[in-house]
Amino acid sequence: MRHLPRSAQLALLLIAAACAPPKPPAPAPAPAVPPAFPPGALADTTRAREDSAARAAAARARRVRAPVRLAFVGDINLGTMTIPGGVPPDSGRGLLRAAKPFLVGDLVIGNFEGVLADSGETEKCGKRRSVAWTGGAPAETVRVAPPPHRERRRRHRAKPAPVQCYAFLTPTLLAPRLAEAGFTHLNLANNHANDFGIDGRRSTEATLAGLGLRTYGPLGDVVIDTVRRGDASTTIGLIGFTTYPFSYDLLDIPRSVAVVDSMRPLVDLLVVTFHAGAEGSGALHLPFAAESLGHEPRGELRAWAHAVVEAGADLVVGHGPHVLRGVELWQGRLIAYSLGNFATYRGFNLAGPQALTGVLQVEFAPDGTRARAQLLPMRQIPLQGPTPDPERASARLLRALSDDDFGASAAHVAENGAIGSP
Ligand SMILES: [Zn+2]
Repeated sequence: MRHLPRSAQLALLLIAAACAPPKPPAPAPAPAVPPAFPPGALADTTRAREDSAARAAAARARRVRAPVRLAFVGDINLGTMTIPGGVPPDSGRGLLRAAKPFLVGDLVIGNFEGVLADSGETEKCGKRRSVAWTGGAPAETVRVAPPPHRERRRRHRAKPAPVQCYAFLTPTLLAPRLAEAGFTHLNLANNHANDFGIDGRRSTEATLAGLGLRTYGPLGDVVIDTVRRGDASTTIGLIGFTTYPFSYDLLDIPRSVAVVDSMRPLVDLLVVTFHAGAEGSGALHLPFAAESLGHEPRGELRAWAHAVVEAGADLVVGHGPHVLRGVELWQGRLIAYSLGNFATYRGFNLAGPQALTGVLQVEFAPDGTRARAQLLPMRQIPLQGPTPDPERASARLLRALSDDDFGASAAHVAENGAIGSP
């Protein structure tokens, strides 16, 4: 109506209104665009957010932080129904007895390598099996029942199962040993947490939770805990990485950095653990290249560990190779590349260096600096569990590996396993 004069437009509107039949009032139309913020509102919001962040930072600065003591061990498998004789006698009461005095700390963290359940079904290792705990003598309690037709068909196929493929199923009666020994947190980001599917992992989580133990590792399952001493407190974050998509995947370094970066502002102390690398006595040295296990990629661990330290991790602790690996200081932060087998009753080779282990104790001062670190040298005796080693062979091995693999960035390892700057 741009061509009509203004008075004519008004007249047309009045005529239209006069001729139109009466209508119920129309509902108010939704605004096509959200109402604009009043002038200055955005600036006020930003300013409020900045004020709040400044107040939080000031409160953090005023807060007195507590010293923190942490203890770490490598792989734990207290027994498995999937190997004849794989469940220890006396409900495993002897397995962690000698290690208990060293498993002390505000957080005592181990890698739980398997599944805690009294029955389950697995398709790992190329065949489907149902396993159930029936109690009684260990060797006779294993009931491995492959589906008969499928097995018969496969019997004549010349396709062997992958070398050293195990599916671990630990009866729940062994689980209290972990709590009794002093563990507080168990990592499930590893290559055995899903041996009996998602039901198996849920059973592990529920069994350990029932004992007051916390698990971490699957996606979204990180730990944020506060250590308090009187009025002082320190908040600790704990993230587990491994090489599978159900967990935080260390094969993807940029995403690993993003995960660490997002957790960093939430905590005073950020601890990262990982389960990766090649396995066995040939895997003592950390290569500069990516590693694999069979066809499976197992991480480019130097590059990854350096990246997560640079993203804000205060401490990085690894396991997975089933042997000790060296310790490095990167930007002043300690990286322990593998703690080896800790308590593995059956199904794990304990020959030579694979028996050498220990408890890594790390203490942080209230200002967040590392006050002390030590590998308490232990040796695993087959079928008996870890025991203190007067020969301190694992400390000697740790020193040799660190010097060989890290040169100028190697942490210094003393004869008693004390770890410090070179
Ligand atoms: Zn493993």
